Amino acid sequence: MMTPRAWILRIAESKSNYWMTYVMDVGLMVFFLAWDVVHFSVALTSVAVLFVTGAATWTLSEYLFHRWLYHLGFEMARAGHEKHHQNPKSYLAVPWFFSPILFVPPQQLIAGWFGVHGASAFFAGWFAGWFAGLITYSYLHHCLHHYNLKFAWYRHLQSQHRLHHAFPETNYGVTTRY
Ligand SMILES: [Zn+2]
Ligand SMILES: [Zn+2]
Repeated sequence: MMTPRAWILRIAESKSNYWMTYVMDVGLMVFFLAWDVVHFSVALTSVAVLFVTGAATWTLSEYLFHRWLYHLGFEMARAGHEKHHQNPKSYLAVPWFFSPILFVPPQQLIAGWFGVHGASAFFAGWFAGWFAGLITYSYLHHCLHHYNLKFAWYRHLQSQHRLHHAFPETNYGVTTRY
């Protein structure tokens, strides 16, 4: 029988999972935005501020995940990321069902069970921006390994990320210079 570890790594390496993560992450971003705009009619300026804050928080998460989870974290995260280092063009992604499991229950718990509507709206706007950052990062990282675009900023990020692949102790940020 397949171990849970082997099962998760097999999903992580499937191309359908790779594209499904985009569908799920965009879906979650829309869900969280709709929570604020449609469900609670939060003022658009407030939603925009939360969204931008969430997207900015993403750049920090990106660094922390990459450095402390994928390179120094638990064995399965390291094993999965190691596969990306070995074969940067492969279609490898965290299984698609992780993000809804991690993000929807806490936000809904605050909303429904505790009835703290302001807090649920706050987290929804923030998570929406965070997912926008995650989606941008995922696709940018995909492009860095698949396409050679001519823009100076792009080439800079690409050479920086190639350096990370050659020297894994450097350049943990993908959309940032850290
Ligand atoms: Zn890479
Ligand atoms: Zn790495």
